[in-house]
Amino acid sequence: MKNIGFIGLGVMGGPMAANLARAGHSVVGHDLGADRVERLVAAGGRGAADLAGAVADADVVITMLPDSPDVEAVALGPDGVLRHVRPGTLYIDMSTVRPETARRLARAGAAAGVRVLDAPVSGGEPGAVEGRLSIMVGGAAADFAAAAPLFEALGTTVAHVGPAGAGQTVKAANQLVVGGVYALVAEALVLLEASGVDGRTGLDVLAGGLAGSRVLDLKRESMVKREFTPGFRVDLHHKDMGIALAAAREADVALPMTGLVAQLIAAARSQGHGSLDHSALLKVVENISGK
Ligand code: NAD
Repeated sequence: MKNIGFIGLGVMGGPMAANLARAGHSVVGHDLGADRVERLVAAGGRGAADLAGAVADADVVITMLPDSPDVEAVALGPDGVLRHVRPGTLYIDMSTVRPETARRLARAGAAAGVRVLDAPVSGGEPGAVEGRLSIMVGGAAADFAAAAPLFEALGTTVAHVGPAGAGQTVKAANQLVVGGVYALVAEALVLLEASGVDGRTGLDVLAGGLAGSRVLDLKRESMVKREFTPGFRVDLHHKDMGIALAAAREADVALPMTGLVAQLIAAARSQGHGSLDHSALLKVVENISGK
């Protein structure tokens, strides 16, 4: 049993913290939204009114926050995690942020005697609720081994992929593939319907062949129905494509398809769909085609 301080109890962090409490850990959660803290309390955790209250007695601190600046403020700010935890604490950031942010956290942690892992996830809200996430972990092997029992309460595919930042690099690769698949499923659906073929029937066939994918399995029905309740917001995927392109620049590689998909997601945002599910890329493809 570990004392866990959990910061960021949103779509993902809320059910993840609840799963850790269900697995027998003592979880103290903090979020800017009081309703989210109450949800954790109802699920068997405890709430803290501020960050210090959540992390001061923790063996392990987990953050699940929207973006790199949020994580840097919460971890490194004047009233942040590193100011309040004991030396030897394990700090795991599970948000999707820039690999460079993960490396910065690791350096600051090392200076403060705090062990740091980057452990972003894939699998969406259903994966978080069901404890079936994929978790990609960067950091020291010994720290990964220490965190493994916690990861087992959260996910089914857990991998140590390299040193600090490597988890975020794998997540960036994941996001560019997911974005590309959504863009092409949207194009397939627009082509089918504009050609007089039933979209549902067409996508059902694709799902059973070489074009099959988790995106088609999980999202083709809602896309055919034009239901875009998130899920994973366009705004967050826009952030992730920025991370992927920044990582590409840092690695000195050219990713032309990623650039194109990033622009389609940017268009979804600028057309006012930022708070919809990322499958709303379909709206952009329809718009381009005058449909
Ligand atoms: P969310 O917006 O639902 O949750 C973020 C939570 O952080 C919110 O409840 C917010 O109030 C809280 N928060 C923000 N700043 C805070 C602060 N300073 N102190 C305390 N709480 C603060 O976002 P989400 O969908 O849970 O995503 C979280 C991260 O996980 C993101 O990096 C996202 O890219 C990643 N992710 C999301 C999904 C998904 O399907 N939603 C899937 C995989 C990864």
